[in-house]
This record gives sequence, structure tokens and C-alpha cells, in this order.
Amino acid sequence: MTEVIRDVATLRMLQGTWRRAGESIGLVPTMGALHAGHMALVQAAREECAHVIATVFVNPTQFSPSEDLDAYPDVFDADLQLLRDNRVDVCFAPTRDIMYPDGFATTVRVSGLTDHLCGATRPGHFDGVTQVVAKLLNLGAADRAYFGQKDWQQLAVVRQMARDLNFPTEIVGVPTVRAADGLALSSRNVYLTEAEREIAPVLNRTLRNAAAQIARGHGAAGVCEASARALIEAGFSSVDYLECRDAQTLAAQERPNPGTARVFAAAKLGKARLIDNVAVG
Ligand code: AMP
Repeated sequence: MTEVIRDVATLRMLQGTWRRAGESIGLVPTMGALHAGHMALVQAAREECAHVIATVFVNPTQFSPSEDLDAYPDVFDADLQLLRDNRVDVCFAPTRDIMYPDGFATTVRVSGLTDHLCGATRPGHFDGVTQVVAKLLNLGAADRAYFGQKDWQQLAVVRQMARDLNFPTEIVGVPTVRAADGLALSSRNVYLTEAEREIAPVLNRTLRNAAAQIARGHGAAGVCEASARALIEAGFSSVDYLECRDAQTLAAQERPNPGTARVFAAAKLGKARLIDNVAVG
């Protein structure tokens, strides 16, 4: 039975009990509207840890004023059912006041990795991510915390933060779960109309084509430019970025060595901003 916890003291008490018993804890941070992608993280945590804490918190500090915070899907009962079906021990679902009480004043900023991709197109976004993940890592006192490779840059930024600030939690990346047509599962896919949902898999297909061409030796800049054009021709309204970058440092790559780079994209389709990334070679 999944226990719903909304306050810090109860969470601390429970994880203290587990720690004293020498039982390991896996943490799965989410913003809710859960799907099979989130459940892959839960599954990985269940395989490696005695207890699993999933957090459901739509973190306001990682949204800019023009973004979809107010529209973000809120389906807590369905989320809880999914967590129960997947035998999660605790659903930590704090209120905004609990996470950010009056007088809250601390920011955590990872520089360098956040200069590119979503960091450049969503200014301040990763400061909000590292702020909330730092808090959740402290609150969860987890041995391992699980993040999806769909948000590759987020995973890299969280890893860097955990390393730099000596968080004792191991950060684990989990492969992207996709629909049969290749579209990466995302809570934001519910924004797509039926017609847009037909177009959406073009993002992954285009990235895979781009990665294959770059792996064959074509220059990344030209390939990425043509791929961005292909997305617009397919019906995407704009492309925030489509770039080939080093998988670890996120430095731009023109002719990467096999296995070292990925192609990353964010593009808008109707009300949704979709992101994806694939390996080169
Ligand atoms: P979100 O609720 O969108 O903030 O996502 C919470 C976590 O689930 C993040 O670590 C995401 O990278 C991960 N995630 C979201 N979608 C997927 C997916 N399709 N496959 C794997 N992980 C995912």
C-alpha cells in the first residue's frame, strides 16, 4: 500500500526508520501526470532498492512566467493508483508552501552545462530543477535517485550538482520509454490534438536520421539545419534547437567520434513543446 506523505517530518521519520534498519531507499522525482516512462524509473528503483519513494510535485520555480505551469496536467488520483499498482512505498506530494515557505532564499546553479539547449531556450529553468532536486535529495535521504534519459541535459546537470556538492545519493539514468511509433512518452503529450499526435513521431524519426548521417561522416551543422527544416515542413511550428553535442560535456560537435555524441532537439507542436535526444553511432 502506497502511503501518501505531504509533510517533511513524517517523511524524515519513515526514512529514518528504514535507514536504521539498514534498508536502501530509491527516489523517483516526478511532476505527476505519470505514464510508463515514469514507471520505468520506479521499476529500476524497485529492482535496486528495498524501498521506493516517488515524489509528485509540480515545481513552480522551473517554469518561466510564459510557460504552462497553470495548465500542467493534475491527475493525482490516477497517479496514486499507478504508484500503488507498481508497489511504490511512499508518494511524497508536498504543497508549494511546504517546499518553498515564506522567506525561502536559496538557489543552486550549475554553470556550463546549463548554457546550452534547454538552458539557453528556457532561461532559469535548470536553476529551478537543481533547487528542487537538491531539496528532494536531502529530504529523501536516498541511496539512489532515478532520472530519465529523455531529459538528458537535466540528468547531466543533476549528476554534476550531486558530484560538486557531495550528495551521497547515486544518480541513475534510465533509458527513454517510447510509444510504438517512436514518440517519447511525456506528460505534455496530452496537449497534442489527434492530428498533432500523428505528426509528433517525426521528431524522433528526424533525430534518428540526423544521428545516422552524422555517424556516416556528414558534418553535423548542415545535417542539423536540414533536420530542423524537415520538422517545420512536417508541421512543427518552431524549433528551439536541433544540435549535435557531446553526450557528457554538451560541447558542440561537428564530426564526433562514434558513441560520444547525441543529437538533441526541442520543437513546438501546437500547445506542446516536445524534446528528445538520440545517440550518434
Ligand atoms: P517529469 O514528471 O516530466 O518531470 O519527469 C520525471 C522524471 O521522469 C524525469 O527524470 C524524466 O526524465 C523521467 N521521464 C519522463 N518521461 C520519460 C520517458 N518517456 N522515459 C523515461 N523517463 C522519463
